Amino acid sequence: MAFKLLNDRDAGEVVTILEREYKDAHYYLNFKTPIDLVVAAILSAQTHDDVVNATTQVLFSKYKTAKDYANAKPEDVINIVKKVSFAGNKAKNIINTCKAIEKNYGGKVPDRMEQLVELPGIGRKTANTILINAYGIVEGIPVDTWVIKLSYRIGLSGNKDPEKIEQDLMKTIVKKYWHNWAYVMKAHGKKICQSIVPVCSKCPIGPNSTNKICPRNGVTKSA
Ligand code: SF4
Repeated sequence: MAFKLLNDRDAGEVVTILEREYKDAHYYLNFKTPIDLVVAAILSAQTHDDVVNATTQVLFSKYKTAKDYANAKPEDVINIVKKVSFAGNKAKNIINTCKAIEKNYGGKVPDRMEQLVELPGIGRKTANTILINAYGIVEGIPVDTWVIKLSYRIGLSGNKDPEKIEQDLMKTIVKKYWHNWAYVMKAHGKKICQSIVPVCSKCPIGPNSTNKICPRNGVTKSA
């Protein structure tokens, strides 16, 4: 079936309904400082949140500043993060990112998008996450795998490229929701719009809801 993009009115309604449904959704990784957040965000790619939080509990007790990580021995960091996927690469990115933060920004995590995306292992998704959660600066919407999958199903974007999806979402979603949208999508994906078989019958925008807004793009099997 052809992809169906929601019109602005329906998209606005979807956003309002899901924001209300998941009003407690929030960023899920533990951190206290911007540098903690950089490290946690690098470790989080393709790794379960609980594994990242268990790993950073140990890591953060040993390393506190960009300088600490910049001077760390790679084998020591790898040993602590070994349960995280791609541990070797991520440990290298953490150390190299912290070296760059130490050298170029005096140890302070930069608060500008164009500076963050220059750091090793930090793309636009992670940069948005850092800006929002460390500094309260909302420039865009973090586009992770949940946002990619659900934006397509719900008809908020027909694009596959994360940056194009972000542009589509920024045109459709009012700015006051940008900071939390990725966490709303994740909560909805885990509870209802599950990856393999979405539970459309219980969905607040699904075929049994009063609004029946969701076009369910690409859904061939649902519960
Ligand atoms: S109706 Fe189905 S596909 Fe659409 S958001 Fe709900 S669970 Fe996902």
